[in-house]
Amino acid sequence: MAPSPAPYWVAGRPRTGTDVVAVRSPFDGAEAGRTTNATADDVEAAVSAAAGARTVCAALPAHVRAAALDHVSRRLAERSEEVAALITAESGKPLKWSRLEVTRAVSTFRWGAEEARRWSGSLQRLDTDPAATGRMALVRRVPRGPVLGIAPFNFPLNLVAHKVAPAIAVGAPIVLKPAPATPLTALLLGEILAETDLPAGAWSVLPVPNEVAARLVQDPRLPVVSFTGSVPVGWSIRESVPRKHVTLELGGNAAAVVAPDQDEAALDWAASRIATFAMYQAGQSCISVQRVFAHRDVAAALTDRVVEAVGKLVTGDPTDDATDVGPLIDEQAARRVESWVADAVAAGARVLTGGTRNGASYAPTVLTGVPADARVSCEEVFGPVVVLDTVDSVDEAFARVNDSRFGLQAGVFTRDLQVAFRAARVLEVGGVVVGDVPSFRADQMPYGGVKDSGTGREGVHAAMEDLTEERVLVLTGI
Ligand code: NAD
Repeated sequence: MAPSPAPYWVAGRPRTGTDVVAVRSPFDGAEAGRTTNATADDVEAAVSAAAGARTVCAALPAHVRAAALDHVSRRLAERSEEVAALITAESGKPLKWSRLEVTRAVSTFRWGAEEARRWSGSLQRLDTDPAATGRMALVRRVPRGPVLGIAPFNFPLNLVAHKVAPAIAVGAPIVLKPAPATPLTALLLGEILAETDLPAGAWSVLPVPNEVAARLVQDPRLPVVSFTGSVPVGWSIRESVPRKHVTLELGGNAAAVVAPDQDEAALDWAASRIATFAMYQAGQSCISVQRVFAHRDVAAALTDRVVEAVGKLVTGDPTDDATDVGPLIDEQAARRVESWVADAVAAGARVLTGGTRNGASYAPTVLTGVPADARVSCEEVFGPVVVLDTVDSVDEAFARVNDSRFGLQAGVFTRDLQVAFRAARVLEVGGVVVGDVPSFRADQMPYGGVKDSGTGREGVHAAMEDLTEERVLVLTGI
């Protein structure tokens, strides 16, 4: 007998529709579980409940919001092995990385609870102006309104956490739409949210096809859209609802720069980080290392080390504890990567390792001699491919990093403080990581992109600011 479908969540209540969706592992097609698409009536009920809960959520005491977030954090920790196994089953992410994702989400919710307790306002004196003598302003941030959160497949839990935790922390109702390939983890999170004391309407989790999601984007009762996903979908959403508050966390072709000051030990570190975080999640992270610009003095030594480190990565079954690199999300994605690499090779690139496909799996691949206009360099590969390039100066490297329509984060391996400061000044990205790859992210820091990579910032505190706007109360006679 087929397993019963996981319920979706409408205003905190479990619901089941009739349109059954079987979710399968991209590695071997094994069924990870089932759910049903939300019915039209349930979609309407979720949106109207979110709109109706606007005032009650905004007025929730901080201790209630924080307790709910703490509860989610604790329960995710208690159920961590089950949650990690589900992430792996539906996304093909190697178990070790799924465990890390759960650890991150535990911290995202815990940090949300701490921020909810701290979230306050400020007192602004106005009597610097004679006309405002005797007046002060109490400035608070209030939710802009119910949020539509749209999440991608590559972090089925943590990018959902980055939508849900800040919304709860500020008291904004949220309707969450998980990715079609990976809805099950978000639905399991719903089980945990249902154990909290949050009011009905505070949250819903709706698996729906993209056409329904596109209609939700247009719904005026959801004035805030927080979208993480691909560049074309993100910007088309932005353009379709110019009067809404839209946050876009989109893709990129992140780069690492290796300065000439790197000694043997530093090169070992740089190479191992580049190899790991170019291939991490089979390259399906928006801040995977895709381009490396190494100074001529260290390029050969770095290349040898990167090729060696990539060769040591264990590929294969994502449920195996030892696996470093699993499949892409589907065979079509792997075929696209294969064709992009073939195009680069036809244009003169050399494959130093990898370059083969097996179903949805693509071998970790290191390329050199890639023309700057090849898609593996100038588009987002979103696959386990890294392009190594040699430059004559750090400034040339910085110019090459900036020669991109994307700008999420950049990594700079240097021991020279001046180079680090210059990187922070000139690189056109949302964040510069000195001493590591661009793939580093912590929940406390603002995170997001410039150029085509997006607009607005996430990271729990930054997202709380993004979901709210200032409201002023002017006090007279004090
Ligand atoms: P995608 O754009 O295909 O889908 C993202 C989400 O949007 C899914 O839930 C999808 O169902 C939904 N969607 C698709 N069409 C829609 C429409 N017309 N209206 C409303 N919703 C719609 O992206 P993906 O393939 O799931 O994810 C990969 C992309 O996400 C990559 O480009 C990656 O770089 C990016 N990403 C960015 C970040 C970041 O924080 N910057 C993090 C992770 C992933």
